[in-house]
Amino acid sequence: MTSNVGAIRGFDFHCHLDLYPDPPALIEGCRMERIVTLAVTTTPKAWRQNVKWAAGNPFVHPAVGLHPELVGERFSELPLLEAHIAESRLIGELGLDGSPQHRNSFAQQKEVLSRALSVAQSMGGRVVSLHSRRAEEETIEIIQKCTTRERVLCVLHWYSGSVKAAQRAAEGGCYFSINQRMLESDRGRALVNALPDERLLTETDGPFNVISDRKSVPSDVISTMKRLAELRKALVPEITQRMHANAIRVLRFAGLDLDLLL
Ligand code: MN
Repeated sequence: MTSNVGAIRGFDFHCHLDLYPDPPALIEGCRMERIVTLAVTTTPKAWRQNVKWAAGNPFVHPAVGLHPELVGERFSELPLLEAHIAESRLIGELGLDGSPQHRNSFAQQKEVLSRALSVAQSMGGRVVSLHSRRAEEETIEIIQKCTTRERVLCVLHWYSGSVKAAQRAAEGGCYFSINQRMLESDRGRALVNALPDERLLTETDGPFNVISDRKSVPSDVISTMKRLAELRKALVPEITQRMHANAIRVLRFAGLDLDLLL
């Protein structure tokens, strides 16, 4: 194997590759564009298919999840989620959603999150991508109750809660995956400004995230790094290098060795 320094162009830590019209094309696109992508799933039933699609593609890494918005109708899949967490070191999308339309499943959401994180904690070496819309404090509380930073590394994805809670979570070992839309809002920029570089990762949340009237795709993390460089008044290569170092640190926690791609 010849060394291919700098082959990775970026990291998308939260993308629903299986929810685009042609997932295999997107998965191949990650290889072509050289974007390492965490392929989160919204139900544990979707995980195996994602593993099959990503087989042999070192840029795409499926994570097993149960989206909090789906917990109300799919609570019965919790045992399957727990079983797959024993097999998968990457986990997501998990979390809590406190929006009015999901409030009636909130107790079940908390149970799913607590039980899933407890399995992750007992297995160790797990990386989890977490949704926390309108339930940021509760999500962070469950992370702190069920996990330790030595065994489970939590990434708060598209976080929109208070800066104070975010800073506490960062001090506790949480990372934050940020996308372009966050950097377009004052609130998102204030959050990112309050967090240290070494706790940031990039993501897209495609295809739910829409940028310039089209569905976001993993390679959009390149422009997110440019915007982050502007915000930090830093050079793009400098920010790129820092984001790569963070991403490699996080993926190593889950036992992923990306040396072949570096
Ligand atoms: Mn998502």
